Amino acid sequence: MSRSAHPAGPRHADVLPEGHYAAPPADLNALDAKVWARTVGRDADGVVTVGGVDVKTLAEEFGTPAYILDEDDFRARARAWRTAFGADADVFYAGKAFLSRAVVRWLDEEGLNLDVCSGGELATALSAGMSADRIAFHGNNKSAQEIERAVRAGVGRIVLDSFQEIVRVAHIAQSLGKRQKVQIRITVGVEAHTHEFIATAHEDQKFGIPLAGGQAAEAVRRALQLDGLELVGIHSHIGSQIFDMSGFEVAAHRVVGLLKAVRDEHGIELPEIDLGGGLGIAYTSDDDPREPHEIAKALTEIVTRECEAARLRTPRISVEPGRAIVGPTAFTLYEVGTVKPLDGLRTYVSVDGGMSDNIRTALYDAEYSVALVSRASDAEPMLVRVVGKHCESGDIVVRDAFLPADLAPGDLIAVPATGAYCRSMASNYNHVLRPPVVAVRDGEARAIVRRETEEDLLRLDVG
Ligand SMILES: *Cc1c(COP(=O)(O)O)cnc(C)c1O
Repeated sequence: MSRSAHPAGPRHADVLPEGHYAAPPADLNALDAKVWARTVGRDADGVVTVGGVDVKTLAEEFGTPAYILDEDDFRARARAWRTAFGADADVFYAGKAFLSRAVVRWLDEEGLNLDVCSGGELATALSAGMSADRIAFHGNNKSAQEIERAVRAGVGRIVLDSFQEIVRVAHIAQSLGKRQKVQIRITVGVEAHTHEFIATAHEDQKFGIPLAGGQAAEAVRRALQLDGLELVGIHSHIGSQIFDMSGFEVAAHRVVGLLKAVRDEHGIELPEIDLGGGLGIAYTSDDDPREPHEIAKALTEIVTRECEAARLRTPRISVEPGRAIVGPTAFTLYEVGTVKPLDGLRTYVSVDGGMSDNIRTALYDAEYSVALVSRASDAEPMLVRVVGKHCESGDIVVRDAFLPADLAPGDLIAVPATGAYCRSMASNYNHVLRPPVVAVRDGEARAIVRRETEEDLLRLDVG
């Protein structure tokens, strides 16, 4: 990733190259189905609706900014993943993308399992009644308390991330008189992001145990010796926002290579392989994500073929989509506060949120699209940068986009595909209050996470 290192943040005061921008879209009122939640459309007056409720009503009732989540779309995507992988595989929703008790219940009802990676995520899942054996616990530095809580609750698996953790989990499980099901997370030297992957990536990262140098094989050896552990499989997660399946192909080949080495050395065939998450979604019309059934078919074929070649029984496959389920289901609804044209440059559109509700643009140079949603407009397109209200020039929500030139304060605009890693990464920077998540379905809207209040903020400040 290219990243300019300006002390004020990435892309501070960048210079516009001549002719740099793609042409504006043919119709600024169009809502590309690829980037918007499934029930989104415009009503006869040009106002955008979702789940049968229009955005002006939502703004009046819940205020702005707000994350508006299409519950039917969430359930449909969860179900599509579940159906695509069938009864011989498991789908674990990666809770870090966005987790709330309502989400846990939807997952439960749609037959998905759940990944958590902290005590807080585990507590959320358990408090919503998710059965512990359908929860997998991840993380590179789980505390002893977190491990103890997870083992006591009876989580389905703990994904071991280091040699120290192998011993730590074994010890805690044994002291509780339990034998904990575990997988070992390995790094296979594959890095995948978007349309590229590197098969010889450095295993220079904090997660997992490197396959290289026999370390993963040694981890298996140690785990098999410890009474507190039942080693059930190997885990690999290769990246994020991936469109190209070839990275998974190389990763599966290497994981199966380890399963074969384990069989040859110990005479056992580990029954599970987890290929992680990271499947991409459309943030703009330029992205072309694959459907769950295509992904399931490709991954199942890869693992089956590799296992046949290694003369191994095909293990039970699991996958961990987060973004691919929740990402497209929500948009962030903002009110325009100021519109500032800068001659010969572009127009800065300031909204009532910003990097506190969407850090991804500043953090990853992520790209988003944006639309005027409180009305349709026939005005000419204008080049805009949508920015927030924070004291930071890197506070950009949408770096480059087109909105109608008659855009004015009070208009509502929405940024689609913000269901994943926006609310879950939201902060209180500048003591801005974190927005609610509003679920809409069949003409009804309800906050599943309410807006933060100043009392919430002050409650933590004990003077
Ligand atoms: C983040 C993460 C996921 C989910 O990634 P998405 O890009 O949201 O699909 C799955 N598994 C592990 C281990 C992760 O760290």
